[in-house]
Amino acid sequence: SEDFPVRLLFREDIAPLLPVRNQISHKGKNGFLGIFAGSSGMEGAALLAGQGALYAGAGKTAIITTGDAAPIMAGKFPEIMVSSIGNGPHFTEDMAEAALEKAKAYDVIAIGPGIGRDEETVKFVKKMVENFEKTIILDADGLYAAAEAKIDFKSCPGRLILTPHVGEFARLTGLSASEIEEKRIDAASDFSKKNRLVLVLKGAPTVIGLPDGRSYVNTTGNPGMATGGMGDTLTGVIGAMAAQGMSPSSSAAVGVYLHGLAGDLAAETTPVGYRVTDLARLLPKARAQITE
Ligand code: AMP
Ligand code: MG
Repeated sequence: SEDFPVRLLFREDIAPLLPVRNQISHKGKNGFLGIFAGSSGMEGAALLAGQGALYAGAGKTAIITTGDAAPIMAGKFPEIMVSSIGNGPHFTEDMAEAALEKAKAYDVIAIGPGIGRDEETVKFVKKMVENFEKTIILDADGLYAAAEAKIDFKSCPGRLILTPHVGEFARLTGLSASEIEEKRIDAASDFSKKNRLVLVLKGAPTVIGLPDGRSYVNTTGNPGMATGGMGDTLTGVIGAMAAQGMSPSSSAAVGVYLHGLAGDLAAETTPVGYRVTDLARLLPKARAQITE
């Protein structure tokens, strides 16, 4: 099973990858995910990512956000630890040192949902990605920053998982959206091989490029998922998988499959118009269905 160039992901591929939680498990065994997300006025994106992590079984989930955004998020989910760095509306370069210090506590970090596109935020992201040595999921405005700052992914010390939709991937590559859609699989696998990272090119279908040039094509998900905030929750789901000890490649495969399956369960009763929150609440049921 190792020498496939392209592989469709089905339940039987995912089931053996899911982390087994044994009887004597404790929260410290299931990983600590730190989500650097949100800014003034964009608190929801961070909360949706946090929600994805919670329902996907992260041992502990923290959201680290900016001074202005933290009070809006506090207490929305009592299970999520919300803390802030700095006093302002968005992340700035001078916060990176404190953020990296905080990040030592986390097994995995995610950066991007709702952080905005300020020049300072771009610099913050660059410092984080160039210095964090464990697994990083980079999404949304975190990807904008990576493209703006021309981060050289190959020389970053951590293990990277990028989760762009087509628009974000176009900015990263310089390709047009239609060029990408014409060759979704090749575009994803070329990029991940060249940059030695895991690339989750979201959409219909989502393609996952692996660092060795192989790729997975997901088989779950539906157009009811084409609404704002769905991707933020996926970031939390993939982060939770990585926190539970899975490799970046497996975290992406399992996270994408599980997120899509939860969407398919939501669509059974509501084909279009279910909330991101509805999908998130179905993640445990989707997980149980995979292993049953
Ligand atoms: P984002 O654009 O960042 O909010 O991410 C949207 C999420 O919804 C991704 O996980 C996409 O793969 C998923 N999604 C959006 N549209 C579709 C579709 N037509 N079919 C399947 N999944 C979709
Ligand atoms: Mg998004």
